Amino acid sequence: MRSDVRYVRPSSLGEAVGFLSDHGPETKPLAGGTDLLISIRSGELKARYVMDVNRIPELKGIAMTGEGLSIGAGTTIAEIASSETVKRLAPVLRKSCLSFGSPQVRNAATIGGNIANASPSADTFPPLIVHETIAVLSGPDGERRIPVEEAAAGPYKSNVGSRELIVRFILKPSEGRFFEFLKIGRRKTLAIARVSMAVLAEKDMRGAVGFIRFCLGSSTPVPCRIVEVEDFLTGKILNEAVVAEGGRLAAEKMIEISGRRSTTVYKEPAVKGLFNRLLYPMVKND
Ligand SMILES: Cc1cc2nc3c(=O)[nH]c(=O)nc-3n(C[C@H](O)[C@H](O)[C@H](O)COP(=O)(O)OP(=O)(O)OC[C@H]3O[C@@H](n4cnc5c(N)ncnc54)[C@H](O)[C@@H]3O)c2cc1C
Repeated sequence: MRSDVRYVRPSSLGEAVGFLSDHGPETKPLAGGTDLLISIRSGELKARYVMDVNRIPELKGIAMTGEGLSIGAGTTIAEIASSETVKRLAPVLRKSCLSFGSPQVRNAATIGGNIANASPSADTFPPLIVHETIAVLSGPDGERRIPVEEAAAGPYKSNVGSRELIVRFILKPSEGRFFEFLKIGRRKTLAIARVSMAVLAEKDMRGAVGFIRFCLGSSTPVPCRIVEVEDFLTGKILNEAVVAEGGRLAAEKMIEISGRRSTTVYKEPAVKGLFNRLLYPMVKND
């Protein structure tokens, strides 16, 4: 790190927000550092202050509350992967954390850093979106709540203000529903996702899709819920033809959002194929 970067380590949210109120635009919050330190070392990112947020108790912890499943922004990916509460109430998020980076990366990286970094291929984004998660931010004007999909303005462009911190995420819990998170990378481990997807679904009494939330990651500028696919599948009994049509719609929507690029040759069939794998267990169980 450059020697002229100053390190601060507040021990409460109030202290952190007070500092950001005065120095926000020249400060970068530091959580696990797995993205931030790389950008600072490469010279790509300049900051006068680095604010270590690891001592802020308000950013810690996983608990079921009256509002939903609360996960502190400073919770590490390893803590989420090993949480029994997450396993029961948000297993799709847990699944994304199990294949995240390496054990060393999972021990340092936080969910707040993953969302604030706003990478299109951030692994926890699609699961948080299918859980209709609210991100709770704190800044000099108090608390601000936004749907998690609005936390990213574009690739690596965060909507979290320079005087704000993400404090926690509130997920709608989902127990007993079908869930899946899948990603394709260039290799099996330590790979950044080229295409990823998350789904939560439930069948009704007839065996048709009664509830579904579907999110595409790594193939649009920001991960996004594809409502057209959800609407198409709702009320239908899943068979191979219906799932194939859902995959075609997902790929069509991806091209509509991202435009045709050189990678579309690979991504269009990849989205269709991955979508089939995603929902195949729901077909098979009939
Ligand atoms: C080897 C390697 C493998 C990786 N594999 C994966 C992978 O499989 N999947 C994946 O999604 N990512 C992966 N990453 C990327 C990275 O690990 C994640 O994005 C991680 O979640 C970032 O979290 P962090 O705590 O390290 O954030 P940091 O690097 O500390 O911060 C990242 C950004 O978020 C900001 N920030 C952090 N906390 C807050 C907060 N509470 N409020 C506001 N802003 C905040 C920082 O200022 C910075 O801009 C990998 C990285 C490496 C180096």
